[in-house]
Amino acid sequence: MDGSFDSWQPAGWLRHEALLAPYAQRASSSRGREHPEPEHPYRSPFARDRDRIVHSAAFRRLSGKMQVFTGEMGDYHRTRLTHTLEVSGLARTMAGALGLNESLVEVLALMHDLGHPPFGHTGEQALDRVLCDEGGFNHNRQTLRIVDRLERRWLPVPGLNLSREVLDGQRCRAEKHRAGPAPSLEVQVVDAADSVAYDTHDADDALVLGLITLDDLLETRLWSAASQRFRTRYAQPSDDELRRGVVHELINWQMTALLTATQSRIAAAGVDTPEAACQAGVLVAPDDELAELKLEFERYLFARVYRHHSLCTMRERVTAMIGELFARLLDDPDRLPREYREGESLPRAVADFLACQTDRSCEQLADALLGQRLG
Ligand code: MG
Repeated sequence: MDGSFDSWQPAGWLRHEALLAPYAQRASSSRGREHPEPEHPYRSPFARDRDRIVHSAAFRRLSGKMQVFTGEMGDYHRTRLTHTLEVSGLARTMAGALGLNESLVEVLALMHDLGHPPFGHTGEQALDRVLCDEGGFNHNRQTLRIVDRLERRWLPVPGLNLSREVLDGQRCRAEKHRAGPAPSLEVQVVDAADSVAYDTHDADDALVLGLITLDDLLETRLWSAASQRFRTRYAQPSDDELRRGVVHELINWQMTALLTATQSRIAAAGVDTPEAACQAGVLVAPDDELAELKLEFERYLFARVYRHHSLCTMRERVTAMIGELFARLLDDPDRLPREYREGESLPRAVADFLACQTDRSCEQLADALLGQRLG
């Protein structure tokens, strides 16, 4: 060993890629980056992309952005960052079980919520409203703007210069209802993991916050069945043990069912390349029975949790605050950092700036620019 990484060839990631399923995307077949870069001696292109996401300012800011519940409501529940890490873990598990590219799945999962503005979907809807004449605002499209233009590295090019497969994957998320081939299996896995994570964890968080009770959730067939499964193994759990046990059961059940249904669809479609997988339509999805239970559960969460009066009050306040901040910055653009202005319409630049704020820095901005918090 002469100390040069060249003597380590072939790189570990290349050996690992030889073991992937034939329908997995491979970094060794990557179409490269918009701005070509020399290959790294021991990190795959997708592993480099993952590191670029983790080292980005937008990723760090996820720790200050709410998922469903605000920071003022306690410190148990998920933030946008912990949700992202949970999605990444579930998605990697699925990718490993299906023989898909775990590095690609990981980067797609870690970037999937990067474009969320402060205050989750409330902030997104508020920005969408004020940008209605400019093409609107959507967090999936904003993720692309962040990685393509707004983030800066040490290179003299805008954005993170990610691999084309990664950008394509996020583009599929941003254009979900577009006709044509399905997204890659790696993208489908991230979507499925996201859904398992938020359904289960929003219920868990709502229970701990006291917005709903364990008995309330028994009204849904999904929770009720998971509860029965858990109780067959632990007869007399405490409420806390029951909550944790059912959450664990829900994740394990959904993941196993997803993998089983997906494997049989892949086999039935006979897909043997990444392109054939896309042509075969959506393959990563729960079976019909679980899909129906999940839909009922989501409707319940929408009515009883997302429309809970404590969240509705927050939503009204934040919508007004973001609308006021947007109008104020439009009137007084000198307050906008110069890097946001370059090559953008003023409304889009203001939205980019506001979307980059955390919940707290958005409140601080309102204190500074509006003089008072909107009650
Ligand atoms: Mg998500």
